Amino acid sequence: MITDELIVKTPVVKEIAECKEIFWENDRAGDSFEDNIVDIDEAEARLVRFAPFIKRKFSKPEDGIIESTLREINQMKNALGMNIPGRLFLKCDSHLPISGSVKARGGIYEVLKFAEKIAIDSGMLTTEDDYGKLADDEFRELFSKYKVAVGSTGNLGLSIGIISAAIGFQVTVHMSADARQWKKDMLRSKGVTVVEYPDDYEAAVAQGRAEAAKDPSCHFVDDENSLDLFAGYSVAGKRLRKQLDDAGVTVDEKHRLYVYLPCGVGGAPGGVTYGIKHYFGDNAYCFFAEPTHAPCMTLGLVTGLHNRIAVGDIGIDGRTEADGLAVGRPSGLVSQAMENRVTGCFTVNDEKLYPYLAALKDSEDIFIEPSACAAFEGLKYTCGKQSRSFPAPDDNSVHIIWATGGDMVPEDEKKTYYEKGTLLMKKQEEGCE
Ligand SMILES: *Cc1c(COP(=O)(O)O)cnc(C)c1O
Repeated sequence: MITDELIVKTPVVKEIAECKEIFWENDRAGDSFEDNIVDIDEAEARLVRFAPFIKRKFSKPEDGIIESTLREINQMKNALGMNIPGRLFLKCDSHLPISGSVKARGGIYEVLKFAEKIAIDSGMLTTEDDYGKLADDEFRELFSKYKVAVGSTGNLGLSIGIISAAIGFQVTVHMSADARQWKKDMLRSKGVTVVEYPDDYEAAVAQGRAEAAKDPSCHFVDDENSLDLFAGYSVAGKRLRKQLDDAGVTVDEKHRLYVYLPCGVGGAPGGVTYGIKHYFGDNAYCFFAEPTHAPCMTLGLVTGLHNRIAVGDIGIDGRTEADGLAVGRPSGLVSQAMENRVTGCFTVNDEKLYPYLAALKDSEDIFIEPSACAAFEGLKYTCGKQSRSFPAPDDNSVHIIWATGGDMVPEDEKKTYYEKGTLLMKKQEEGCE
């Protein structure tokens, strides 16, 4: 039995296999690493070139740069009812323009890059041009000969579907069974072809990849292996540095940064972490949050097997209400890149997500989806804790909860989530008495 062997080598696997909540500290965090997986400046420059196109096609963002606010959440800090030394911020990727999730970073970037290559290869565009012209009919005509495909649990599909349709690509989203109905409906309303699979996410991706491979005009956005996605996410580190500077928030060896990121296949939190470590180095500590029933990145890192192990291999079902995180096998590319960058990983029970969701809504009037709420749990593992791989936060520390999604969720679903959270909160309070 594979689990028994793993447990002998790495005892924490036993708790992971039992779907217990765990915190794992990465002893290799801080080992030196080569900082050359992607070129963040190049990716940022490409997004700047595309700003006039984004402005023409979408009412928001007004400047054509897809970025989210960084909000200090003092009311939530009080509501959490624990001692959190330092300042607490929410990075509102939940409200990123165009697709309302962190996928608006990597997903949109990859599709824009594909479009740019086609336009340049056709001789109709140079990087010196005003990219606003890519919205003209002659380009739409050009792009309509190409296809984009992606496999997704939901938010990546939304992001790729919306931007591809805006550019004029023929786009297909392969969706797993656990994807929400409203996401499928919304995509279809935008002219996106949605193919549904009875199996899990990995199967949807595999099908999508196989179909795209048969067609040379089709670009497959590969959530498990894409350097373009990774590059798009990594730009967040550069933008975050500027946002913190502008807000007068210092990060240095006396003012340390703690970042908590929900993790599915790993591209989003991995790319963001890559960017953050690039700009903040040893002054930043990044932690990944996963559901107890789908702890794929934790398992890949803990065992050192990366994408050569899936949660099913140790008998875990991968089922979680945190649909953005319902992934059984991590990206090998990302898992390896995180080996000496991520400070730690932790797992969260699904029921914990909803009280955070309701508390954030009550205290700050911000809605984020259940997946995104997993990040809050990380504060418990850092604040007031002594540890090998990071210093205990103090009054000079800066904490950032990376809110990865929420704005696109329909109102009735938001209400259901919120009510569930309120109910669970009441139960917890009663349980404490
Ligand atoms: C996709 C997603 C994540 C995780 O991103 P991965 O690249 O899959 O690790 C986290 N939260 C939400 C809401 C998401 O949609």
